[in-house]
Amino acid sequence: MDYNALAERLLPGEYPALETFEKRYPPRDLPKNAEVTRLAPSPTGFIHLGNLFVAIANERIAHRSGGKLYLRIEDTDLKRRVDGAVEAVIEALKYFDIRFDEGAGIGGDDTYAPWYQRQRAEIYRAYVKDLLRRGRAYPCFCTEEELAALREQQVANKEVTGYYGKYAKWRDAPEAEVNAALDAGKPYVIRLKSMGDAARKFTFHDEIKGDVTVQENDQDVVILKSDGIPTYHFAHAVDDHLMRTTLVIRGEEWLASLPIHLELFDVLGFRRPKYGHNCSLMKMDGQSRRKLSKRKDPELSLSYYRQEGYHPFAVKVYMLTLLNSDFEEWHMKFPDKPLEEFPFRIGKMSRSGALFDLDKLNDISRTELSRLSAEEMLAFLKEWAQAFGTEEQKGYFADEAYLLKVLTLCMGIGGKKRRKDFVTAKQALAEIGYFFGDAAQRDAYRVDEETRNAVLDGFLATYSYENDAQVWFSKVKELAASIGFAAEMRDYKANTEAYKGSVSDVAEVLRIAVTGRANTPDLWTIMQILGEERTRARILSARA
Ligand code: GLU
Repeated sequence: MDYNALAERLLPGEYPALETFEKRYPPRDLPKNAEVTRLAPSPTGFIHLGNLFVAIANERIAHRSGGKLYLRIEDTDLKRRVDGAVEAVIEALKYFDIRFDEGAGIGGDDTYAPWYQRQRAEIYRAYVKDLLRRGRAYPCFCTEEELAALREQQVANKEVTGYYGKYAKWRDAPEAEVNAALDAGKPYVIRLKSMGDAARKFTFHDEIKGDVTVQENDQDVVILKSDGIPTYHFAHAVDDHLMRTTLVIRGEEWLASLPIHLELFDVLGFRRPKYGHNCSLMKMDGQSRRKLSKRKDPELSLSYYRQEGYHPFAVKVYMLTLLNSDFEEWHMKFPDKPLEEFPFRIGKMSRSGALFDLDKLNDISRTELSRLSAEEMLAFLKEWAQAFGTEEQKGYFADEAYLLKVLTLCMGIGGKKRRKDFVTAKQALAEIGYFFGDAAQRDAYRVDEETRNAVLDGFLATYSYENDAQVWFSKVKELAASIGFAAEMRDYKANTEAYKGSVSDVAEVLRIAVTGRANTPDLWTIMQILGEERTRARILSARA
């Protein structure tokens, strides 16, 4: 076989010498031990929690080591491409505060550009041509049908499926046959001529999983598809070499392809990067654990967290909690320290599945939101409401001074202890809804109608907006006593038979009448915020 002639026939014309690329993309000038990591999403339009999970790990490791994180778009698979997906990826990662140094749409140093694989086609072809010349790659003219039939036969024989060894029909095809197929204009792909032997095992050190034993690759994998675009495997090797990636952190679903990648790095003469395969996010489903699934779990999608109004910081805190087991304790000890100061380490990452639990995220969200100032909370709610809120909720922001008072109360700011009432923006806006409009829907009262009306009438008779909290409360007590309720809790407890109830039952009636809710922050303050007119109007509407 005249490999040079074949290479020329398949990829005619001048391609840059491979040294050109080495010079164009020189080794990075970074401190010793600095890691260059990357995120390499495919623009499928679905960006999920697993992407964020791995992004945070990549970001922390790069930046803690004084290295770089870049964004590469793996758009070699046209079938999976969705319009606007790249923008969506960039935007989502920005929302969750993933700071890239360079890459697609980032606007940093462009030495290693282009960042879209489709724009790098010439580079890949130059390397493929070199492999063809060296007899380490060859064209394969098998049709889809032939490959399907091969697979069927292998399955029937209980053999490993794929294109390898004796099944690699075109691997050693005679020159004349190859030329005849080319003359006939048959479509073809280009495959790697693997030198591996699946019977040979070797141990590989994974930065996350530790030592793993794998088989050598013996599959003649496709490296260039019939449209002249490389496969993921091939583009991964070329790009991670030329972009000078030192550490590939990616989902563990890629571990199975690792032997292919190592062989590609070797045959291309590239130094292998380090790899860390990150565990998958799991959830409990009844008694068993399973991977989060796109079909079954809406919480897998990153857009879920934005629509529900989770604070991006809380999501990040939770992801870090899952990534490094000592993060949670550190963050509890130093809640005000920037997350960047946490000693994040790849060695502390979990080897097997991380259990994702929405309740835990909700707990973290409550705590993180309770640490915001009222102004920060307002800004966060406003951004969410503008994108996802109802028209009515958008109206909450018309009077920001009023809203700040509401938030100050509901967050317990200035009180003995911060309240943790808010989980998400969506829930918080629903929670404070009673400060706006009327208390249209009310929780059920626990007293009969006659008692309720007596409470409401009695309250209105002496109510004055000017009264401070103490005076206000002593009036509520007097009212309680006048209609057969104990004014003091301890009297009631000492002799429950003697009373219809206690002052707290009376206060509850007022609370439900004014807010619609049986549980709220301090009622006097609520009335102060609502104002006299609105307070009276609500009591009257409850009376009717
Ligand atoms: N394009 C691949 C994906 O989206 C990237 C895997 C990798 O990080 O190498 O899954």
